[in-house]
Amino acid sequence: MLRTLDSLGDLAGTRVVVRCDLNVPLKDGEITDDGRVRASVPTLDRLLGAGASVTVLSHLGRPDGAPNPRYSLEPVAKRLGELLDREVEFVPGTAGEAEPGSGAVTVLENLRFDPRETSKDAGERREYAEALARHGSAFVSDGFGVVHRKQASVYELAQVLPSAAGLLIADELSVLERLTERPEKPYAVVLGGSKVSDKLGVIDHLLPRVDALLIGGGMLFTFLAAKGFAVGRSLLEQDQIPRVQEYLQRAESLGVTLLVPTDVVVAAAFAADADHETVAADAIESSAFGADGIGLDIGPDTAEAFAGVIARSRTVFWNGPMGVFEFPAFASGTKRVAEALTEVDGLSVVGGGDSAAAVRSLGFGDDRFGHISTGGGASLEFLEGKDLPGLQVLGWERDA
Ligand code: ADP
Ligand code: MG
Repeated sequence: MLRTLDSLGDLAGTRVVVRCDLNVPLKDGEITDDGRVRASVPTLDRLLGAGASVTVLSHLGRPDGAPNPRYSLEPVAKRLGELLDREVEFVPGTAGEAEPGSGAVTVLENLRFDPRETSKDAGERREYAEALARHGSAFVSDGFGVVHRKQASVYELAQVLPSAAGLLIADELSVLERLTERPEKPYAVVLGGSKVSDKLGVIDHLLPRVDALLIGGGMLFTFLAAKGFAVGRSLLEQDQIPRVQEYLQRAESLGVTLLVPTDVVVAAAFAADADHETVAADAIESSAFGADGIGLDIGPDTAEAFAGVIARSRTVFWNGPMGVFEFPAFASGTKRVAEALTEVDGLSVVGGGDSAAAVRSLGFGDDRFGHISTGGGASLEFLEGKDLPGLQVLGWERDA
């Protein structure tokens, strides 16, 4: 059983170390999507309301184990203060050497400025966890996006201090369990994004559980190639074709509706303003761009077909944009799918960093979906049936 906040007892007057996932996208020092900061607020509010002070830990980007001002958490600490509507103390330097905070809310600098955070050596991670443990008498793990990682602030720290899961982790977990244990039917899973090799594990684990599997994004071209169609210069993972062929067959024998696009939008180049044209999925190289064409979105017929299946489902999980939504000309498929998810009478879940950013940038409010997961990799690993060390260390076990 996952240990929850109540298991820590009365926290009044204590200082609690909280591992959040404040790894937000930044552009020129500005936060472009503060979803993860907002998702951290309920747990911090709960702890502060219980009379505790908090020291917040997080990583940001990949500074590769050395201080780097580009990845400073300072702007994120500022945003957190606005959202909490409280003064937040930010401690520069490195988290392992920082003096314990004095204010109600203290944010330490990026955990990954120290190589021990992500070290492969358990002893080094333990040493770092012990340094971090000086900041409180209890530990709350709430960075859902990192629970699939055996890292010092996720795994070892939960062993050094009395520990429990925060509200965000508990919430994410209950949604993921609804997607894997007796999901309400019909159940559709929509996969897109860039690399098919990132998503095959999920297909493998979910295929026997779903009624429909819809394939879009860059990975659709490996599916089209597996059916024997030419895909021009579209994203293709040649070495994954045999596995994809096997999944196409397995879906058929399981009676799962596996929808691969029937039309796609092909462009002259990978660019926002590239010339483009919609063609049948088996005629990609017959576009005006011939064998140079690059598929950048699902076509309108496919988008309608996907939307129909999604809207009729009672449980839908979606990971991975349907096209290169960052370019408005190729965002239509993603937009249509997002819209269909908002119409689901049941549970609709959006998982994945880019997928969450896509629905927000296309103007859909978070409240129009049943759940938007803050952790892409972690939710995918959960759905692949893997054991997540950051949850196990909090007492969670997967039901057999
Ligand atoms: P998530 O973060 O939601 O798990 P991914 O990281 O797997 O999603 O994929 C997101 C990326 O996939 C986006 O940046 C998008 O531009 C890209 N993508 C979608 N369709 C295509 C395509 N047809 N060709 C190339 N890239 C694509
Ligand atoms: Mg991504």
